[in-house]
Amino acid sequence: MIHHRVKGHVVGDKFREILNQADRENRTYLVEHECKEILEGMGISTTGHLVARSEDEAAEISNTIRYPVVLKIVSPDVVHKSDADGVKLNLKNEEEVRRTYRDIVSAFRYQRVMGVSVQKMARPGIEAIIGVTRDPSFGRVLMFGLGGVFVEVLKDVTFRILPVTEKDVTDMIEEIKGYPLLKGYRGHAVDIPALKQLLLKISDLVTKFPEIKELDLNPVFLYPSGNMVVDARMFIGEFTEEATVKSDKAQNLHGLFYPDSIAVFGASNSEGKLGYNVFRNLLFHQFKGRLYPINPKSEYVQGIKAYKRITEVGEPVDLAIVVVPADAVPQVVEDCCKIGVRFIVVETAGFAETGEDGKKVQAKIKKIIEQSCCRVLGPNCSGVINTHHNMVQSIGLIGELGKGNIGLIAQAGVYAAGILTGLRHIMDFGIVATIGNKMDISETDILEYLGEDDHIDVIAMYMEDVKSGRRFIDVANRVTKKKPIIVLKSGRTEAGKKAVSSHTSSLAGDDQINSAAFRQSGIIRARNNEHMFDLTKAFAKQPIPRSDGVLVITYSGSLGVAATDMLHLNGMRLAELEPGLKNRLLDILPDYVKTLNPVDYSFSMDAEQLRKTIEIGVESDDVGSFIVVLQGEILGSFMNTLKKIDYKHKPILSCVACKEFVMDDVIRMEKAGFPVYSTAETAAEVLATMYQYGLRRSRQEQRKNLSMLT
Ligand code: ADP
Ligand code: MG
Repeated sequence: MIHHRVKGHVVGDKFREILNQADRENRTYLVEHECKEILEGMGISTTGHLVARSEDEAAEISNTIRYPVVLKIVSPDVVHKSDADGVKLNLKNEEEVRRTYRDIVSAFRYQRVMGVSVQKMARPGIEAIIGVTRDPSFGRVLMFGLGGVFVEVLKDVTFRILPVTEKDVTDMIEEIKGYPLLKGYRGHAVDIPALKQLLLKISDLVTKFPEIKELDLNPVFLYPSGNMVVDARMFIGEFTEEATVKSDKAQNLHGLFYPDSIAVFGASNSEGKLGYNVFRNLLFHQFKGRLYPINPKSEYVQGIKAYKRITEVGEPVDLAIVVVPADAVPQVVEDCCKIGVRFIVVETAGFAETGEDGKKVQAKIKKIIEQSCCRVLGPNCSGVINTHHNMVQSIGLIGELGKGNIGLIAQAGVYAAGILTGLRHIMDFGIVATIGNKMDISETDILEYLGEDDHIDVIAMYMEDVKSGRRFIDVANRVTKKKPIIVLKSGRTEAGKKAVSSHTSSLAGDDQINSAAFRQSGIIRARNNEHMFDLTKAFAKQPIPRSDGVLVITYSGSLGVAATDMLHLNGMRLAELEPGLKNRLLDILPDYVKTLNPVDYSFSMDAEQLRKTIEIGVESDDVGSFIVVLQGEILGSFMNTLKKIDYKHKPILSCVACKEFVMDDVIRMEKAGFPVYSTAETAAEVLATMYQYGLRRSRQEQRKNLSMLT
């Protein structure tokens, strides 16, 4: 693909030459004609890159490129040329050019003037803006939008993490509000294939040259045939993007989640100590492998023989959990590396998160592990839980856990513990990983592993910051093809951190970039904690709907309407039963029931009616899923019936208004695999999200199959 988009070394040589020149002049800002020369090298049309250093030269260039022409100031001191009155449009003859040249030179006599750009006057077109900026989490991002009021007032722009695919640029173009203008507005459609090529070429350019920090093409004129870059600028800087893969250490994390033997540094007999809790959890949850408490003061810890140092164990140890004070950790890590421990989980706090001293200790540990094949989770975390391996490493005591298919990745241990304490009653987790300061193993590494683990069907993630940027997107993209990822991320802006030298940067709110990144990789973004687990439990317990038709069965008319509205708002619809099925339904419904979907029983629904109605829906080709609105007071009476029905892989979500007051029955419902929501709207929205996810996944499969055929 790439070879016909980038003209290889030709662009490279030119780029280096321009960079060197800028470097000699101590500039990080590339002026318009320099940028345009680079763009032209990529096969992008611009209004030209010629610069006159004298009046005669300006006249000569104008005569060659033909009138009308445009003159613009070229100066490293003038970033916004027209604001400084340095852009003169539509000059029609040599005399105008000469006069304007003199005017410009005289007006800018106090600035460093590199010359005057002489370029073709472009035919008017639809104005667009294309930009690149750098995001602290995701690295460089591409922006696209329409120019003028669209960008200035409406901020109608869209982002994607670079590099982008053809599908990404198609999505970008189609998702801006001004898209109808591009598609065809009174017959003036623009050349969309050419626009896509332009966006892809920009992606290629910045991928090839990591020095490009920011780029603004503003404006680009879009025509019914082709397009033209009218103005361009770039900011260059050191290449600071995180390395994308952990080269030789990118090993499998299997041993972190399924170790055969664990040593616990700081395991203790004193109740209330964290070292007590961690060891207690391992015993209470009946870890099946070998356990080695490491404690210089006790001979036994909670009944298990202890060792003074790990070097005395004399048997291989797969994983070490560390709960000793921060300043003792480097020695511990060194000992572990010596005997070949592959994974060290440092749960102790007091590292980089507390200040300079902590940072130093963390750096020391990093240095030690760099020379070994050992990997570290944490510090400042609460370890890993793997219910399928009877392994709970948490620093807080955790009660009984079921073995489930949910993977949870969290930064903070306390958060994860809080979640588990409550949610373990209605959801079964498989693997819970807390990452803490992630000095080595990151959320992306864990996400990649959970994507492969067969016990896990859905991944929930609470994210505070992402460090691996682009790799996160790539990994998420691969994982979402197999299982849904639901992410909760705060979108607080770090505007202060950002240099706002380019237009693109000023438009790039962190949250917009987060959303773009998630959309690009198929991640489902949760609004808040509740929303995250509303989605997670549905994905964990129910199949994905294969069509958008829904049968709503309710005891309350208004809740049926609420569900219907929400379904429609989210791109779903009420299913239409086939005539034969309609008649069967009419037979079991009370006489006063008028509508067949929502099926509204108005306070009289019993378990048998519910069963028969669902079974009719199961038979209907148009029904892809069910929402059942159940009465809290008699919730228990539905349970056994609901369990007996064969749903033929059609999902069912339920709504119980004010479910908080009938929690015992709700918990029984949830345990039986029926997600319960307190509002019909939530049930409808969750269902729609599941459907959208399935749709994306099957489209991807279709594309893959097609590309295999061709
Ligand atoms: P700046 O953004 O630094 O102020 P531009 O080069 O973008 O300067 O020029 C300002 C405006 O002038 C552009 O938005 C465009 O509308 C118009 N313009 C600039 N160059 C040309 C050109 N070669 N042909 C037609 N219009 C132009
Ligand atoms: Mg401009």
